[in-house]
Amino acid sequence: MKANNRLAFSRAPSCVTCGTQYPEAERMDVCPVCSDERQYVGWEGQRWTTSAEVAAQHEIRFEDCAGVTTLSVTPSFAIGQRAFLIPQAGGMVMWECLPIVTDAALERIAELSADGGGVQAIAISHPHFYSAVLEWSAALGGVPIYLNEADEDWVRFDSPFLRFWDGDRFTLTDAIDLVHLPGHFDGSSGLLWKTGPRPGGSLFTGDALMVAMDRRFVSFMWSYPNMVPLGPKALARLERMVAPLAFSDIYSSFAGREIIGDAKARVEASFVRYKAALEG
Ligand SMILES: [Zn+2]
Ligand SMILES: [Zn+2]
Repeated sequence: MKANNRLAFSRAPSCVTCGTQYPEAERMDVCPVCSDERQYVGWEGQRWTTSAEVAAQHEIRFEDCAGVTTLSVTPSFAIGQRAFLIPQAGGMVMWECLPIVTDAALERIAELSADGGGVQAIAISHPHFYSAVLEWSAALGGVPIYLNEADEDWVRFDSPFLRFWDGDRFTLTDAIDLVHLPGHFDGSSGLLWKTGPRPGGSLFTGDALMVAMDRRFVSFMWSYPNMVPLGPKALARLERMVAPLAFSDIYSSFAGREIIGDAKARVEASFVRYKAALEG
């Protein structure tokens, strides 16, 4: 399949439960993401669709969320995560991804990049959000896709635009580093925007650090839908990775799940609280 063929991607098998698109694959019995213990196969059994079918009945909503543009599929489809567009000199960075692409969304992105920079890179925190990333990359003109090398076995598609990074920290732009936040997945990653949207900077955490409903704490789970918490060793490793990072805001995967202001102190308090819970 040609790497720039958006139309062909839109007709490839996509999993109804997690939204992952499999452009290269034979139609599989079961989606590898969903058959993993962290996820689940839909209660009706494995079902497949295509992003074209889903896009015919859904829209992509753009919202300003505490100073950052978010994109989400409405009505909600599959996991229901949001993606972010982060303005940078040289073009926006798309953090996370969605299971559908629409012409209306592409037009809106073109309006947002009136300076001509467009989207310069896509980066994704972990396999639950790979979604339709090849279709997005193609639709945006062949944009590089940054994924953590530790999750390479989860990448069931090939593309000349894939860029695997490793180490604790990877410089994506002058103001953005990708940071390794292992636990939920071995390669779980965050995006550290050192200078925005406010001067204290922000950490986009995917599912690695999940903002709790009170928006004063985060939690750390190996599986969210199946409710399996992170154990003490994995927690200690994650805490070591977060310690050197400076940020005042956190944005996690789902709508409204952010802590605006004092977020680093809230994360430190969250590690203390979680460890107390583990110790009973
Ligand atoms: Zn799936
Ligand atoms: Zn996840």
